Amino acid sequence: VRPTQRIGRFAPSPTGLLHAGSLVAALASWLDARAQGGLWRVRIEDVDTPRCVPGAGEEILRQLACCGLHPDGEVWWQSRRGEAYAAALKRLVDAGQAYPCGCSRKEIAQAQAALGHGHARHGELVYPGTCRHGLQGKPARAWRLRTDAPNGGDRHIDWTDRRLGPQTQNLTQAVGDFVLRRADGLWAYQLAVVVDDAEQGITDVVRGEDLADNTPRQIHLQRLLGLPTPRYLHTPLVLAADGQKLSKQNGATPLDLRDPLAALRQAGQALGLPTDLPGANLADWLGTAVPAWAARWPVPGT
Ligand code: GLU
Repeated sequence: VRPTQRIGRFAPSPTGLLHAGSLVAALASWLDARAQGGLWRVRIEDVDTPRCVPGAGEEILRQLACCGLHPDGEVWWQSRRGEAYAAALKRLVDAGQAYPCGCSRKEIAQAQAALGHGHARHGELVYPGTCRHGLQGKPARAWRLRTDAPNGGDRHIDWTDRRLGPQTQNLTQAVGDFVLRRADGLWAYQLAVVVDDAEQGITDVVRGEDLADNTPRQIHLQRLLGLPTPRYLHTPLVLAADGQKLSKQNGATPLDLRDPLAALRQAGQALGLPTDLPGANLADWLGTAVPAWAARWPVPGT
């Protein structure tokens, strides 16, 4: 059997520069690809244009290079991939799985309250499925994906994460029919990430744990589009001193790249690598971190 090429990726949103938390995801995905003798791709996820900071994508690439993390092949930019996303949406519409939705946020909230389960998840409303069977004269705003099972019941998605273990989600109840294309015409992260991971041949997704609960949505999309499901490993989050998640939104400071080796050592520590890995320079440290990663996060079934 010819061993298949493993391909990992780092897919930052250029809503700001890399910080200590995002370096953990970058380093982890790089180490995992190298440990498997695979390729490491970088994809700039600039679909949510209003939230992107001009120049941040280029600056992130510079930050990665400064840390010795060099992508294999071309860097992809999601803002140039609209045609591929439109083609995927069309396939889902043709298959009867995606539909236009004319509801405003207010209408969704009202419909939920009427059903007696106004639960918002991450501030997102679970869509009650109002437009599944037609717009009833309303203009189309967004496009949504059905999350019900073929028999009309709930759809449960089971998957296994290399760090978190077996996971399960009732997609219908926990998320509901989710948006693929927003009312403002922008492509949703879920669709873009699934289309691009497949087209780039990604076999291993390694990313921050804050994204773990997106995985069932992405697996559901992969199945409907007939795409393979990669292996997943969600890395521990780096917390700020106050215990909050480090994020661009709460003002995490960009990496201090006067000492990239110190930044990498810190990221390695967050990933459970030994703190005393030898390596006086970047290349040496990265070289010793690869086998340390392989020992700490072995690939299942190898
Ligand atoms: N672009 C996403 C983010 O920066 C990550 C996407 C992913 O790794 O799947 O949060």
